[in-house]
Amino acid sequence: MVKPIEAIKNNTITIKKQAEAPIPTPWGLFNMIAFSGKSDDWMPHFALVHEHFDPDHPVLTRVHSECITGDLFGSARCECGEQLHKSMELTAQAGGIVLYLRQEGRGIGIINKLKAYNLQDLGDNTIEANEHLHLPIDARSYDVAVQMLQTIGVRQIRLLTNNPAKIEAIEHSPIEMLEIVPLIIDPKPENVEYLRTKKRDMGHLINWPDNKE
Ligand SMILES: [Zn+2]
Repeated sequence: MVKPIEAIKNNTITIKKQAEAPIPTPWGLFNMIAFSGKSDDWMPHFALVHEHFDPDHPVLTRVHSECITGDLFGSARCECGEQLHKSMELTAQAGGIVLYLRQEGRGIGIINKLKAYNLQDLGDNTIEANEHLHLPIDARSYDVAVQMLQTIGVRQIRLLTNNPAKIEAIEHSPIEMLEIVPLIIDPKPENVEYLRTKKRDMGHLINWPDNKE
């Protein structure tokens, strides 16, 4: 059986809307749409489409990859949870969309991510830990995000990201990207090294004030 992430990478899954329902959140009312290639999928991707979404205007869009530790449990090892909540706030203000892709741990899965955390506690950075586990540094793919946006009827976006891989993925897609909107979260003592690695070694467009460099 093809693993979900491999299938996404190889673009062999054609996903479609399986179900949708309005979800009132602290940031506003979103229509939550579950996308998958099959109706009984327990790990569908989600699109959270704000009630004021208008496909005739450039849509503020966040493409967020699942991070159970950060998104759900508020872990300070990364800034994912804060990025997700900030994205919900900003997209709610702009009638935008948050896409929530089920590619945990940059696509290596939660079990491998926890193992990588152990290596990080012994001194590896986020890249070295994956290399020591013989895992890809970033196994994520964004083809599925493009499919989801096209299904929703989005043609033009303002992309909320610091990640050059996401920018490149949209640039090579039929979706027109009119603007890149940075998503800056203040670093915490627990994640400042992680964020430095993202900026220095993974090319993330993080512009902190000088005293936070
Ligand atoms: Zn995270």
